[in-house]
Amino acid sequence: MEKSARLPTLHHYGRPVLSFSSHTCLCGRVPIKKRRYGQCLPSPFWVTQQGRWDSRWSHFTTSPELGDQEVRVSITHCGVCYTDIHGIDDYCGITTYPFVPGHEIVGYVSAVGRAVSSLKEGDWVGIGWQGRPCMQCEWCLQGEEQLCLDIVRSGTWVPYGGFSTSVVVDSRFAYPIPEAMPSEVAAVLMCAGVTVYSPLRSYAAGSSQKVGVIGVGGLGHLAIQFAHALGHEVTALSSSPEKKEQALAFGADHFIVAGDPATMRQTDYYFELLLCTAHGEINWESLLMTLRKTGKLILLGFHNVALNSTDLVAHQLSITGSFLGNRATMQEMLSFAQVHRIVPTVELMPMTQVNEAIQKVKENRARYRIVLVNDRSRMGG
Ligand SMILES: [Zn+2]
Ligand SMILES: [Zn+2]
Repeated sequence: MEKSARLPTLHHYGRPVLSFSSHTCLCGRVPIKKRRYGQCLPSPFWVTQQGRWDSRWSHFTTSPELGDQEVRVSITHCGVCYTDIHGIDDYCGITTYPFVPGHEIVGYVSAVGRAVSSLKEGDWVGIGWQGRPCMQCEWCLQGEEQLCLDIVRSGTWVPYGGFSTSVVVDSRFAYPIPEAMPSEVAAVLMCAGVTVYSPLRSYAAGSSQKVGVIGVGGLGHLAIQFAHALGHEVTALSSSPEKKEQALAFGADHFIVAGDPATMRQTDYYFELLLCTAHGEINWESLLMTLRKTGKLILLGFHNVALNSTDLVAHQLSITGSFLGNRATMQEMLSFAQVHRIVPTVELMPMTQVNEAIQKVKENRARYRIVLVNDRSRMGG
């Protein structure tokens, strides 16, 4: 049977996107220029233009040739991260269209480039946001590849991301998954995991600290687990009182209803470190009130921060950002998560329901991370 004939009918959101480049083909038609471009990804189906998306099943063709250091990975699982939504909306100004999001990828290696020695066909690997940093700029040479100067091309999204059946990346950014770690757990750790682990290692190394985690969501529920396992006294701050029980179950020692002046006062000048994992409106000045002198507020999402700087200066506070983690931190994080049994709460959904999954994440209804699962019968190499 023709592969396209087996594809299900999917409903559409928004108007169909028809402005494909000559490198793409539509489902239900003979893949155009397949011979010329060789590898036709056999049912990646998420195409967007800025601010809207389309669940049309589509075929994207990529070069049949792998670069010397590249691997092709058949995707079994891919988590849905809020950064995917930012990518759809081109919030950061680095999205290229047509766009297939997805950067919490797990799958098996299906082909390797000539110079790849660390992986072989059949290896089970995870891939995060970084797919191919340049490895030549000053930051890559320092081993801080997450700061690569060529951020546009370093992303796994380029040319197409993980809401797909296969992806091609630099083999140095495909990480062997610890034995016995479930695929959906590994998928979430590839972005959410390293995003919260890296700043905890950088800014709260050593002795136990009073750590506040703002937001109990995809990132927050992992931050609580990692901070607890690292020996810190953890307080979860959330605007949703109903999350208290679960936050405590994740390892939080305390729970505070964020935004409630009465309860927030309990934490005045209390925290040494605050990790901001939340989206939405935040009262920055009241947050700074909760930091001890010389305390640090670490932003993990993309926020507009507006505040009066009096406390910032007078208490010698710091506000900084943290972006993903380097390769060494990724490997350390995976081992740590395995040893300390860090387990994200995951809702599995079929890849065919990618649009519903995105909508749930946008509406803050994911508890706490959605992982899309490919139907193996439709997977290609
Ligand atoms: Zn992410
Ligand atoms: Zn670089």
